[in-house]
Amino acid sequence: MPHPGLVSAGVEVTPLCDAVGPMGEQIARPLRELFGGPDHPVWARADATEPWVLHFHCYLLRTPAGRTVLVDTGLGGPDSPAASWAPVPGGLTAELAAAGVRPEQVDTVVLTHLHSDHASGSLAADGRTPAFPNARYLVQRTELDWLTATGSPLLDAVVRPLRAAGCLDARAGEVALTPEVRVFATPGHTPGHQSVAIGGRQLVVAGDVVLHPVQLTDPTVGYLYDDDQPAATGTRQRLLAELTAGHGILATAHFAEPFTRL
Ligand SMILES: [Zn+2]
Repeated sequence: MPHPGLVSAGVEVTPLCDAVGPMGEQIARPLRELFGGPDHPVWARADATEPWVLHFHCYLLRTPAGRTVLVDTGLGGPDSPAASWAPVPGGLTAELAAAGVRPEQVDTVVLTHLHSDHASGSLAADGRTPAFPNARYLVQRTELDWLTATGSPLLDAVVRPLRAAGCLDARAGEVALTPEVRVFATPGHTPGHQSVAIGGRQLVVAGDVVLHPVQLTDPTVGYLYDDDQPAATGTRQRLLAELTAGHGILATAHFAEPFTRL
């Protein structure tokens, strides 16, 4: 069953837990190596030699005017690009159904970034048809440029089919989806990473800007797989400062608890 969710600025925000489990062996490292490095003082009093067990949250937003927005599409099925390292296939479709939403009711899909655990559920099982047939899919143009330059498998698995279906929107910077919901650039984890703000900064669905609670203790703690660690740290510090100043809520992809009030 989906988490009960909450209402922010009139928008119903429901976390959809796509999966839970440890990283696959290919890229798994002890927590202290993933975050800050083995000698970082933030780990001085913690046993952080165990592997990282991640939750994989997507978010469903239902606005007062009846718009349905999905933030991220998760790990995808057993043949997805995430299958090489994900603990299990994603269960987004069932979570969405349990929240009372059919795929064709989704108006907008915001992909925070084009990593395989955030975008692989974008296509139906045939790998060609959009999983959300009536939705526009929104990414930052910078993210597409980066993906093309790196030759990621998501180009063929996600970007090209969405482009062929004519539903991919590449935008630059801030985009107002509704009076309450805005998308804004939060670069660093990837160059075109974007987050979704509700009611100004009352609640921010922040993708992988903050990956683990240790980064709340010390926002300068970098993540091994951030594309640009200094940029990611700057973005994380700015966002956390804004949310803290306004007592806002941070909605994360990989924490065990989807919402953190700052
Ligand atoms: Zn992630």
